[in-house]
Amino acid sequence: MDKIIDIAIIGSGPGGMTAAIYAARAGLKTVVFEKSTIGGQMGYTNEIENFPGIDKISGFDLAVILNEQAKKFNAEYINEEVKEIRKEGSLFSITTSNGEYSAYTVILALGASPRTLGLESEKKLRGSGVSYCATCDGNFYKGADVAVVGGGNTAFEDALFLANICRKVYIIHRRSEFRAEMILQEQVKKTPNIELVVNSTPKDILGKFEVEGIKVINTDGNERDIEVQGVFVAVGTTPNSDLVKDLVNIDNYGYIITDNNMETSVHGIFAVGDVRNTVLRQIVTACADGAIAAQNAGKIVLENTK
Ligand code: NAP
Repeated sequence: MDKIIDIAIIGSGPGGMTAAIYAARAGLKTVVFEKSTIGGQMGYTNEIENFPGIDKISGFDLAVILNEQAKKFNAEYINEEVKEIRKEGSLFSITTSNGEYSAYTVILALGASPRTLGLESEKKLRGSGVSYCATCDGNFYKGADVAVVGGGNTAFEDALFLANICRKVYIIHRRSEFRAEMILQEQVKKTPNIELVVNSTPKDILGKFEVEGIKVINTDGNERDIEVQGVFVAVGTTPNSDLVKDLVNIDNYGYIITDNNMETSVHGIFAVGDVRNTVLRQIVTACADGAIAAQNAGKIVLENTK
């Protein structure tokens, strides 16, 4: 690629793709770098019913729509992993798994990854009964008993999804109050094959070659072995900010700090979506971040090229 990229977007979740739509529609040379498939975490979401204007849609279908919309305005997608970003004068050098690129501005849409429980047995049985994505792997557990660990929206949505496929679903949560929205809590209460196991923390995942059960310990110190064939871990996410942790300011949890323009501590680098230190991590907020970042990155491109 010989021409300098106006706006290089790293990541193709909803934040990255919305930034691409806005940037490309403004006539700017826009390139989205993505190391795997489009959509980010949204791509693994079975059903979205809180995206304004759309009654119900799968995350993958929404990702395809956003991708096509950005391409319609001539945004380019490059399927390469970004390995390094360096500031060189008024430009940024981007090293990928396959080459070198130069850009006037960069929008980091790096997303977040699932948090783990930190158990040795969890590591050992990952892919053999331990999963971090119910919508990806749920169908492998037709008619089986499974556990979902966590008390947030993801855990409750996963449990409701799995309850349609599995015989029994246990929600294992370390407290008796949940972060999940009330509407989800009510749906769970109404679902006969979901059992809440509260004030309980996973101590071990049982099974030599595949998951056979989960050992939990409750706040009174009592242990209980629950026989399950699958364990779905839904205990939140950590930001994918490693790539830029020495380049831009991050908070104590690793989230990238931005101002109201979505600009980071480095002029010309923006951050959007789940990787940003924000109060709400939703598809709609990532999209809004993307629009704001593209608008402000565009101003910097104009300053550099006029
Ligand atoms: P979350 O809201 O941070 O919830 C994580 C849950 O895991 C909490 O219940 C937490 O317990 C528990 N947990 C954390 N570390 C644990 C550990 N080591 N052992 C056992 N339990 C542990 O995460 P999330 O559910 O993935 O949601 C992330 C964000 O995405 C939230 O803002 C959420 O609203 C949003 N989201 C929205 C939707 C939707 O609107 N459709 C769907 C999914 C996610 P404590 O409560 O005790 O801390």
